[in-house]
Amino acid sequence: MIIERVEAIILDFPFQYGANSTDFIGPAPWRHLSTLLVRVETSAGVTGWGEAFSYACAEAVKAALEHMVAPSVIGRDAADIAGIARHCQQSLHLFGRYGITLFAISGLEIALWDIAGKVAGQPLHKLLGGASRERIPAYASLLRYGDPEWVAEHCKSAQDAGYAAVKLHETTEPAVRAARETLGDGVPLMIDVNCPWRPQEALAMARAFKAYEPTWLEEPVFPPEDHVGLARVRHQSGVSIAAGENHCTSFQFRDMFAAGAVDYAQPSVTKVGGIGELMKVAILAEAAAVSLMPHSPYFGPGWLATLHLMAAIPGSGYIERFYGTVEASTSGPWIAPQNGALAVPTGAGLGHDPEPELLREYQRRT
Ligand SMILES: [Mg+2]
Repeated sequence: MIIERVEAIILDFPFQYGANSTDFIGPAPWRHLSTLLVRVETSAGVTGWGEAFSYACAEAVKAALEHMVAPSVIGRDAADIAGIARHCQQSLHLFGRYGITLFAISGLEIALWDIAGKVAGQPLHKLLGGASRERIPAYASLLRYGDPEWVAEHCKSAQDAGYAAVKLHETTEPAVRAARETLGDGVPLMIDVNCPWRPQEALAMARAFKAYEPTWLEEPVFPPEDHVGLARVRHQSGVSIAAGENHCTSFQFRDMFAAGAVDYAQPSVTKVGGIGELMKVAILAEAAAVSLMPHSPYFGPGWLATLHLMAAIPGSGYIERFYGTVEASTSGPWIAPQNGALAVPTGAGLGHDPEPELLREYQRRT
């Protein structure tokens, strides 16, 4: 079963998150959520779908897939997933061990697992060793509103929708206070600040947030690979720290764990190197007594892969469900939580192919 074709397809879905546009992810207003699909065709007629991280870098990742990854994998045996992932990482290493290159490799690797599941007639989580859970509890990953009143309003709405846990993307004490007062004591509340501070500033903010009993403080330090700085914030504040969405490959996680930098590891399947790489991170995390809380604020095959991974990895915690509304997604009913939890797909492979009409309607044409 030979890989015959690799195609990258960008879809743009209208997206709302209950606030004015901000510079949350880059200079452009955030009105559309992109999904970068990777479609892999094989000589056996089986087609697999993957997702590479995209947001504001979709065009660059698409180019990496088409001009770097595809030429190095066409003609190879699609069943040799680990071998292909290794080959891509090694042959492309001089173009970056982090970021665009690894995002592209991740998308391809996910598609190969989808193919393997379809060939075996088994859902991905069975291929990964089982299904310890049929439903995965989710936390509502709120976006950035800035205004404490809006923060409170969205916390209430998430709670009313059945979520048992909420994560903020806020950086100020008034916003965090509003969230805690709205949610009530004992409700898991996480604070994701996306790398704004130097370690000393981060330590001061962690101490300020501590009164609101966050389950974790996420990425308080810039740059994200400053494991020493993170460890200092963690140890001196006594606040639990989460990080990892900006890490690629198990080696960066190994170093982060060795530094004692985190309580929660957040590999992102569309960034870290794919499903096999995330499984390696899970093994390292368990051995380091770190909890796994994957990063998954997307709605394509990467989301489905995360559900399967969390079903297969005992002890993995909440899935991150972006608390915005997309007009459509390629994951069918599998993005809709019920009572704050998501069902794990049961079909072969990832369990849901993108519908052709979605590709026609939402494909970016440049
Ligand atoms: Mg985050």
